[in-house]
Amino acid sequence: MTAILEVRRLCAAYGDFQALFNVDFEIAAGEIVALIGSNGAGKSTLLKAITGLMSPTAGTISFAGEATSRTPAHALVRKGLAMVPEGRRLFKGMTVEDNLRVCLDRARADVEPASRWTLSRLYDLLPVLKERRRELVERLSGGQQQMVAIGRALLAQPRLLLCDEISLGLAPKVVKEIYQKLPEIRASGTSIVIVEQDVSRARSSSDRLYCMLEGRVTLSGPSGEIAQEDISRAYFGAHS
Ligand code: ATP
Repeated sequence: MTAILEVRRLCAAYGDFQALFNVDFEIAAGEIVALIGSNGAGKSTLLKAITGLMSPTAGTISFAGEATSRTPAHALVRKGLAMVPEGRRLFKGMTVEDNLRVCLDRARADVEPASRWTLSRLYDLLPVLKERRRELVERLSGGQQQMVAIGRALLAQPRLLLCDEISLGLAPKVVKEIYQKLPEIRASGTSIVIVEQDVSRARSSSDRLYCMLEGRVTLSGPSGEIAQEDISRAYFGAHS
């Protein structure tokens, strides 16, 4: 297994408050990995450390074979690490297409032309974005805005796409539609991490799963092989 991301014994803190304790987390090339855990478990903190938005207090992070725990976020994007942030963070007052174009000049450069995401390839994956490309982004539904956020991240030509709670606030039908696109994104050579509150969706959409609780990884393994009772214990703690 070639790891695209390797996190070893990672610790991180907000001032005196330690939020991550010796976290090990690994993604192989071409994998879809789900990260679950209740509120405050440390999922967003782990993503912040991976994307260079927060410096770890101990441990190592290696992305595409290079140590990155001190690499700034913008440099990591150029190395192929893209994030679909919680809340989408689109640019209001700009059209769909202009929101998508934002990433084009910050994209990873060393991509074969045949594997490169272009606007037209993106519009094939998400046709609704083509239909609405000239509209202001705030006029789109929540699900369509989420697709813009995903599209924008793909145009950065990621090796690894980190999706932070992409289903938050969306109708189940729309969530299903978005999740159905993940295998096609993975087939383009991009590994994917999904942070997801819905445990059964996380399980059914991923190859492997990590569960966190109080800043620690409490369970990891192949999504199809982990027993539901083990997930409940890892999610809620030994007293559940
Ligand atoms: P959620 O699902 O609610 O987003 P999470 O698993 O992403 O939860 P984190 O946001 O990583 O959890 O939070 C981990 C711990 O760190 C929590 O106890 C939280 O209160 C704390 N924390 C998060 N951000 C900060 C901050 N900016 N300052 C201080 N403590 C923080």
